[in-house]
Amino acid sequence: MYKDFLKETKKIFGSGFVPLHRPIFRGNEKKYLSECINTNYVSSVGKKVKEFEKKIAEFTGSKYAIATVNGTNALHIAIKLAGVKQGDEVITQALTFVATCNAINYAGANPVFVDVDRDTMGLSPYSLKKFLKKNAKKSSDGSYNIFTGKKIKACVPMHTFGFPCRIKQIKKICDEWGIIVIEDAAESLGSYVGKKHTGTFSLASALSFNGNKLITTGGGGMIITNNLKLAKKAKHITTTAKISHAYEFVHNEIGYNFRMPNINAALGCAQLENINNFLLIKKKLAIHWKKFFLKRKVEFVNEIKGSKPNYWLNALVFKSKKERDSFLKITNKNGVMTRPIWKLMSELRMFTNCQNDGLKNSIWLQDRVVNIPSSVPESFFNNNDK
Ligand SMILES: *Cc1c(COP(=O)(O)O)cnc(C)c1O
Repeated sequence: MYKDFLKETKKIFGSGFVPLHRPIFRGNEKKYLSECINTNYVSSVGKKVKEFEKKIAEFTGSKYAIATVNGTNALHIAIKLAGVKQGDEVITQALTFVATCNAINYAGANPVFVDVDRDTMGLSPYSLKKFLKKNAKKSSDGSYNIFTGKKIKACVPMHTFGFPCRIKQIKKICDEWGIIVIEDAAESLGSYVGKKHTGTFSLASALSFNGNKLITTGGGGMIITNNLKLAKKAKHITTTAKISHAYEFVHNEIGYNFRMPNINAALGCAQLENINNFLLIKKKLAIHWKKFFLKRKVEFVNEIKGSKPNYWLNALVFKSKKERDSFLKITNKNGVMTRPIWKLMSELRMFTNCQNDGLKNSIWLQDRVVNIPSSVPESFFNNNDK
């Protein structure tokens, strides 16, 4: 199976080193970047940021979109504007990229880890319900943790590798407990539950346009929301909290310089013009891999009924850690990048003190899941052009 896999990977992606995910520039990227340079608008002023925000709002079907320098600070600001205060608790999954927990920490809160579903690899509504029943007490102004006495202010589920989690059920449970939901949709641009885009089920959510994501701005992020007040506040504090005025230079609170530069937005505008093509080709690649691994009796991660993923990163589930580790070793030694899923946040030294619910599925997945090369292959693109 290893030899077959190496051969197939090189056939799809070419004979050189094969990364997990690389960006692809086949559209107006150079043209829009030249426009920025030719007009001198490369930095914090320029038309492209507004244009990119408008296009992302349209694409995701959310009312407002606020561009930021990266996805981590988009999430930080979304959590902060949900009303999370110093010392609050925020429920999230331990099986996530560290940025989720860093953002919770920047907002002054402590993460609390609840298990994921085995099939979606995202926060489990079943475990969430169980955790709250056992550990939380509802009061007139929200829910409190019985053991720590702290307020459980928010919940941040993440759509792992672009596979939507059971966000509707999560939202319903959180509503019952007076807990605000903020989605970490950094990996799920182009992923839907039913006809609704991920990130639009909650008060606000964060997207990322880092170089390894579905589309890239070099580095960048976006807060999306349907809440006008939150959108205005987000724009204000991510742009140093300057009061709008023709020439005066006054700031009315501590703000952040989290503004996306015009050149990054220009790149994003060009990338977004190709997103539907990328999504189509990534689906084809996922189907290709799925068939390949079905024949070889290796479990390939699929979406659950009713959800439509972006197939950002394809994933395998091995039968044991031992099998998984030998696959990682051989593939990486042969110039094909494969990567184990993240080490659980609950096991990182910064978060070992945080409460968790036992994390049965998270631990099980941690030992078995591997990502395989998932870029948009040039070879598929060319076939698609014809
Ligand atoms: C990529 C990512 C982010 C944000 O990352 P940036 O590199 O800051 O844009 C946040 N959460 C998850 C789960 C991610 O994968």
